[in-house]
Amino acid sequence: MSDTAAKREPGAQREVSMEKIVSLAKRRGFVFQSSEIYGGQSGAWDYGPMGVELKNRIARVWWKEMTQLHDDIVGLDAAILMHPRTWEASGHVENFTDPLVDCKKCKQRFRADMIDEAKLAKKECPECGGELTDTRKFNLMFKTNIGPVDDGGGLIYLRPETAQGIYVNYKNIVQSNRMKIPFGIAQIGKAFRNEIVTKNFIFRTCEFEQMEMQYFVKPGDDDRFFAYWREQRWNYFSKLGVKMEKLRWHQHGPGELAHYAKDAYDIEYEFPMGWKELEGVHNRSNYDLTRHQEFSGKDLQYIDQDNGNERYIPFIIETSAGLTRQLLMVLCDAYDEEKVADKGTEDDWRTVMRFHPNVAPVTVAVLPLMKKDGLAELAQGIRQGLKEDFSTDYDQAGAIGRRYRRQDEIGTPFCVTIDYQTKEDGTVTLRFRDSMEQVRVHKDELEASLRKAIKDYTRA
Ligand SMILES: [Zn+2]
Repeated sequence: MSDTAAKREPGAQREVSMEKIVSLAKRRGFVFQSSEIYGGQSGAWDYGPMGVELKNRIARVWWKEMTQLHDDIVGLDAAILMHPRTWEASGHVENFTDPLVDCKKCKQRFRADMIDEAKLAKKECPECGGELTDTRKFNLMFKTNIGPVDDGGGLIYLRPETAQGIYVNYKNIVQSNRMKIPFGIAQIGKAFRNEIVTKNFIFRTCEFEQMEMQYFVKPGDDDRFFAYWREQRWNYFSKLGVKMEKLRWHQHGPGELAHYAKDAYDIEYEFPMGWKELEGVHNRSNYDLTRHQEFSGKDLQYIDQDNGNERYIPFIIETSAGLTRQLLMVLCDAYDEEKVADKGTEDDWRTVMRFHPNVAPVTVAVLPLMKKDGLAELAQGIRQGLKEDFSTDYDQAGAIGRRYRRQDEIGTPFCVTIDYQTKEDGTVTLRFRDSMEQVRVHKDELEASLRKAIKDYTRA
């Protein structure tokens, strides 16, 4: 095989930039600009064949972590459209705003808090020097209309977060599933925010997906469970196989803390554009259910039947992550350019996405060395045997070295190559993405070898 590990120079690596990530994401079918043929829709992105697989797998790892591995957490899939009173109770109608100013001359719109203070005081446009309007509050919720008449009576919002769908269903879930405090509700779903400044690729977008878990506890137990969930959420990222040294905690200071929050920490990741928020773990106190009780007129107290029917409004510990933001983190974290030869050409370098096998869009690629002499048929048969249990790809076109490089670029952790020796003794070459090491394995032992390699996988 033309792809040997002998010439490797460990440590010879190139810098990761957002431009490289965006380029690979498009080239290999991870992420496309929305409506690109019309010039693109800002704030929206489409997930291609590799992207949707990666997104589904990340969601699956999160869902398993939160529900299957925690006996006291159940799932929910609430509607995007909710009763408009929900957003009055949550405080979004009043407070979910950005301060905006417009330039009367060049017509550009800016977030007031991002303009130089001296310029803002003089109402001077940072772009053209023209006159700025007064600062006004701009609500980030998308409004639309439900029903046949568009007269404002059918005003409805696209939800700006999934959490409220959990709060309004808390009592249903206590009653239908006999949940006892402490317990949690997990949900993955779309949310929408009319962000004026969308940038950094899929980092901040108008349409995105959240993965939120709301954990209901007795008042007084909240500090203990807040600490517990910070630890749980930190450990999750090591299971996802990302570089832990690129993660850090950030505790919200008094100026950052939301008015309802008792304490809040973010997990930040060092993206190519710097340290940015990845996930929040928040102690929301009893604010949410108190507000919904007030606005709905329904009794949302928990009745503790094990403790003399004691009644209280539960405190909520929230873990709030963005699925699409986590996908960007996984792309940035996996991206690597490695020097594998010394011929002085661009071919000396390979681009390799070092995804954990649990999230890689393709787990194993099956490659016949040649199409002819029955090797293709043999390879198809081997792929057929792996399909039921693994996500597979098949590629018989071009030089084997090029085919390995293509699989490296989509992050396929294992390649199986069928050659003339396979016809003689039934063995195949199993090639490992990270080390480029190759071993001969009998085709009957392939499935077991792959399972073991996935279970034992550690990031190089
Ligand atoms: Zn201007």
